[in-house]
Amino acid sequence: MITEGSIKTPEQIVSMKHACKIVAEALMKAESHLVVGATTRDVDDFLRHFIENEGAKPAFLGLYGFPATACISVNEEIVHGIPGERKLAEGDLVSIDCGAIIDGMYSDHARTFLVGEKKEEDKLKLISVAKKALDIGIENSHAGNKIGMISNSIENYVLGEGFDVVREYVGHGIGTQLHEPPSVPNFGDKDKGALLRVGMAIAIEPMVTQGTWETKVLNDKWTVVTKDGKLSTHVEDTVLITENGPEVLTRLK
Ligand code: MG
Ligand code: MG
Repeated sequence: MITEGSIKTPEQIVSMKHACKIVAEALMKAESHLVVGATTRDVDDFLRHFIENEGAKPAFLGLYGFPATACISVNEEIVHGIPGERKLAEGDLVSIDCGAIIDGMYSDHARTFLVGEKKEEDKLKLISVAKKALDIGIENSHAGNKIGMISNSIENYVLGEGFDVVREYVGHGIGTQLHEPPSVPNFGDKDKGALLRVGMAIAIEPMVTQGTWETKVLNDKWTVVTKDGKLSTHVEDTVLITENGPEVLTRLK
């Protein structure tokens, strides 16, 4: 079994950067579509048109049979929510996960947003802890480090803040496929996992829960929710390992 991440060529890196910039812009612009009364399908339609207008292909549409451009997961939904007729409501916590393909190279990116004017403290805290966990994971993404350095640093930080991290779904290598080796868990020992090397790209994606880390999948066979019904957030960046350290490709400069 291959557990090492693939090393990208300079040409592949150019395409990945382009694919990453498109999803970064798409998610930034999607936030203005997260209004009370909009359906999750409206948000998905915006994302699909944006990505296609930029000359890219939506990475998730049709992948493993997924029927939409983005995974849109609301409140207790963690990941893989299917966009549809659900109307967004005041105070909803919405995680959008989206990817694009340019010249066969993939990007993967997620952010959690809050709908409406009511900014409840517990929800803001859950978002900021997930974002900080992602930043801490990125800081540990140096060539020569084991993936476990990322995993362990995320877990320690999140647990220290009184939240938990999902165990059953993890980050991953990314390149000519959306999901490539190695796995990038949000928990575990710091000396475990593949060695990071210059030219690898990984998607780091903490899923932070208010209650326990346990999950279940709804009858639609896609939507993953917290087992205890408590809130969850999900943020993700695609990160290139360079000789000068981690380069986050899914953030606009
Ligand atoms: Mg993703
Ligand atoms: Mg991912």
